[in-house]
Amino acid sequence: MFRDHQTVQDFAPAAPQDDDERLDPLLGFPAGVARRYEADSRQERIRHLRVGIVAGILSYNSYDLISFFTFPDVAKQAIVLRLIITALAAAVWFWLPRLTAFWREMLLLGAMLAACAVPLYLFAATRAPNGALSFIDFLLTIVFGIAILQVRFPAAIMLTAVCWTAGQLVVIFRPELTFDARLALSMQLLMASYFLLLSSWLMQRSHRQAYLAKLRETERSRGLELARQSFAELSMTDALTGLGNRRCLDEVLSDWLAETRSGRMQFALIMLDVDHFKAYNDRYGHPAGDQCLKEIGAALASFARQGSDVVARYGGEEFVVLMRAVSRPVAHDRARDLVEAIADLAIVHAARPDGECRVTVSAGLTHLDIGADRSEQDVLAEADIALYGAKRAGRGRIELAAKKVVELLPRIRA
Ligand code: GH3
Ligand code: MG
Ligand code: MG
Repeated sequence: MFRDHQTVQDFAPAAPQDDDERLDPLLGFPAGVARRYEADSRQERIRHLRVGIVAGILSYNSYDLISFFTFPDVAKQAIVLRLIITALAAAVWFWLPRLTAFWREMLLLGAMLAACAVPLYLFAATRAPNGALSFIDFLLTIVFGIAILQVRFPAAIMLTAVCWTAGQLVVIFRPELTFDARLALSMQLLMASYFLLLSSWLMQRSHRQAYLAKLRETERSRGLELARQSFAELSMTDALTGLGNRRCLDEVLSDWLAETRSGRMQFALIMLDVDHFKAYNDRYGHPAGDQCLKEIGAALASFARQGSDVVARYGGEEFVVLMRAVSRPVAHDRARDLVEAIADLAIVHAARPDGECRVTVSAGLTHLDIGADRSEQDVLAEADIALYGAKRAGRGRIELAAKKVVELLPRIRA
């Protein structure tokens, strides 16, 4: 049970530590978070890629318009190769939602490598005077993969590494280029690769860190909400029996009285008190007394109809059962059954002064018809008076609150 100075925070699970959740050097999440990230971002990623691929296909093929001017000698090859890449991109577009995160990103990388290979090949193959300008197509294709499609950072490293190596080789071995032109193109390729990798790392790192921060906040609020719920449950629960406590009873009773008052239902309340319980404690000791109360509590709980009865420990060795939507005769029968069920537990009580040798309970029953307008205090007092009637009549029995009492109590209070 919680202590007075404890707060909701004391029940909250420890917030995840920052160290557990750091991104690895390649911006990968820890395993559990990676799965969750994929689940949270999958739809958005696929949508983004599909839009990007369509935009990419359009701009990629728009180069066909200038191919005949920049490298007329390989323009036809350029058109065919771009159509092949377009078909590949369309296949990727189609397969994206059907792949796991790993294969989706791998396929994307493969398609981007193929897409970059085309302008590089054209640059290597053309001997047109302005053919060297097509090197820019190659650079822009890498830009597209990293900045628009935002291939994952490890894939961005692979894409730039392969493109940089292949680009360098082509620049070095392309015969017509002057030394100055080679130097300039190598430098452009190096700088483009460097800027692209840096921007990929910066963008994805901040995006992923923002995701982690949001995740931590969500976990924290969920933990607090769970803690608040268990705190609220605990504050309504009797520690010994696990039944509702007095606070729970007060709350339910006041709700039910309101429903009855507004003509929506009838209900009955049974107040039960263990007979000669002081003598039981004296004979068997307090721990055995506690055990006995637990057994009685469990019997009451199993007697209760799920969703319509409420059982609470009223205090000490007294319990209350609220029965929703029952008529007076049904309530009476059920209360009698309940008293019998407790006696049938056959908990030995050899210290009773009245000759009975089992633990029994006495019960006071009161019933509220639809529309009855009674206060919480009066209803409990009626049941209490009936309970002591049952005690006087010999214990181990049920007594119904007398009509007289029910009518008199409000007047006495007034
Ligand atoms: P009666 O039949 O008239 O109800 O007699 P009684 O002895 O049950 O009534 P009394 O009010 O004299 O005694 C109630 C006893 O219940 C006294 C108290 O020690 C015991 N009791 C109350 N709460 C607990 C509890 O949580 N655990 C245990 N073991 N005993 C309790
Ligand atoms: Mg008592
Ligand atoms: Mg008692």
